[in-house]
Amino acid sequence: MPAYEQAVGQLVRMVSLGLKTASMWDRAIKDEKTGLYNANHYQDQMKRQVAIAQRTGAPLSLIMMDIDKFKHINDTYGHLAGDTVLAEVSAILKREARESDTPYRYGGEELCIVCCGTSEEDAAKAAERMRHKIACTEFHDDRGRLLPISASFGVAEFDPAHMHSEKDLKEACDRALYVAKENGRNLVVVHAGSEQFHKLERSGDANKEVKRRLGLAGDNSPLDGDRDPAPIADEKQASARALLGESIDKLATGLAEVVGSDSDRARVVDTVVREAAEFLTRNLSARLGEEPGLKRAAPEPEPADKPKRKRARRKTPPMEQPAQAEGAPAAAPKPKRRRKSKKEQQAEEAAAALKKLQAEEDAQLSADSDRLDYLTDDEGEQLARGEAPSKRLRKAARKSA
Ligand code: GH3
Ligand code: MG
Ligand code: MG
Repeated sequence: MPAYEQAVGQLVRMVSLGLKTASMWDRAIKDEKTGLYNANHYQDQMKRQVAIAQRTGAPLSLIMMDIDKFKHINDTYGHLAGDTVLAEVSAILKREARESDTPYRYGGEELCIVCCGTSEEDAAKAAERMRHKIACTEFHDDRGRLLPISASFGVAEFDPAHMHSEKDLKEACDRALYVAKENGRNLVVVHAGSEQFHKLERSGDANKEVKRRLGLAGDNSPLDGDRDPAPIADEKQASARALLGESIDKLATGLAEVVGSDSDRARVVDTVVREAAEFLTRNLSARLGEEPGLKRAAPEPEPADKPKRKRARRKTPPMEQPAQAEGAPAAAPKPKRRRKSKKEQQAEEAAAALKKLQAEEDAQLSADSDRLDYLTDDEGEQLARGEAPSKRLRKAARKSA
């Protein structure tokens, strides 16, 4: 019996040591936030894979992915929302990757996928599949707001004639990613030889992508609230947001019709909507006295018997209503005309406040030499070709942000 107990004890110790070692090993090579392999493990694996590619001539490709305008997500919706997005994007890469593809968190919001035995052409197809998936996925923050998420991709294949280490492959991939960013983001670019790059046509349903992006202007607009919003205490603010949201809705519908399934147009609209959403989120929040990313003031407590308020924007009358009321003949008041309810008066006041806001906005823009409200012919053509906005536009966007 003692010999038996001794043997069992030894076995238990061995198993627990094995488990401990395995979990330590897991922690050493994995990133906690995303569950992907970390940068250290990437370095180890890539050295080995490059050596194999050099020895056997087997194809080896690398995909680098960087989330677009991630700083804006953190600044506007909070770091926690950024963390959630990062984890969800990582999960998409894991799901979309084939068995021979291994995703890593290279650093920050930069992820990469090592594709063993894969040509650059096939890696580009995989990258495009991932780009489309991300562009069509709805990411929300903890208040239910739809977040404007997309990602850009650079792809390169190890070329033994011109590359000597994993560093060279990474550099080629980074350059392709840079070109994708320069060309409007939400795009896959392939490194096709020294300083030659190939922009991939967007695949999948372009309209679906644009609609998802334009969803920003709808019920989940960062401009006007949440899916299940906390009521805004100040009716004026609620109505101003609602009216602006409606205007953007109309614009969104028009743009979606223009885009159809045209990939180039989709790219232009994508850029314009992103810039506009960022601009308006910041601008409106600042004007309404809110810091973007901060939670709204807690609502006034309502009487217990009062039914729960619906979204303010749905109840708001259209913008024209106050003007029609003003335009009614003053000399012949209709005898049956009822007094305006408090709500209607508030809506009118809000419409006037919005008009005032817009007038101030116009005045400010026309006083500004770096205006965003016009495009030169060259800029228009560049955007129509799906190229990145000009330096002037980017500067103006940054300035206004
Ligand atoms: P671009 O489209 O050019 O890539 O714009 P960007 O704002 O994404 O680029 P930039 O590199 O300037 O910003 C990256 C941001 O990613 C800044 C950093 O705070 C944020 N970030 C990096 N790692 C994390 C993370 O783990 N969690 C969160 N929430 N943010 C992160
Ligand atoms: Mg980055
Ligand atoms: Mg980024």
